[in-house]
Amino acid sequence: MRKLAFYIIPLGTYNEGIVNDVHRLLVDVFRVEVKVLNLLSMPEDLKNHYRGQYNGLRVLNWLNTLIPSREEVLVGIADEDAYVPGLNFIFGIADPNTGVAVVFLERLKTDATMDKLVVRVRKEVLHEVGHVLGLKHCPNRRCVMTFSNSIYDTDYKEYKYCRQCYSELLRLGYRINIDYVIT
Ligand SMILES: [Zn+2]
Ligand SMILES: [Zn+2]
Repeated sequence: MRKLAFYIIPLGTYNEGIVNDVHRLLVDVFRVEVKVLNLLSMPEDLKNHYRGQYNGLRVLNWLNTLIPSREEVLVGIADEDAYVPGLNFIFGIADPNTGVAVVFLERLKTDATMDKLVVRVRKEVLHEVGHVLGLKHCPNRRCVMTFSNSIYDTDYKEYKYCRQCYSELLRLGYRINIDYVIT
């Protein structure tokens, strides 16, 4: 099995409830060391000022310059709104080649209490981390690796991987806590 280390990096504002929950989640799912890095602000020039949103691809490229090494996974938690060309908004984005993932909170806050937001963030974090580890989108709508077109898709899926995605993770060399596999 391959050894992983995770770094969480809060971007924009430090939402302690979210950051602590993601920390616990990653430790619980992957049984690895997870460190929280200091709060960083994202450079203003990564933003499309006409749209008032960050360009997700530019955020990824910027985060790529911060990653300590390829054996580490960097998970950004950005209290911002983002898009990529072709999509009006994104909940998150990942680069499997560099180990960088980032989740954007703005759209996840839609009609959400803090408890609901925490659950949505868990799903999007496990989704983007899944991409980092080599998973593709999954047709099982309950599986965390299903593509969320809307917040309804996010609410429908679980913060768990289906058996196929679980097997694929094993094949890729990653064993996860079975509690996070849909039975
Ligand atoms: Zn995806
Ligand atoms: Zn799946």
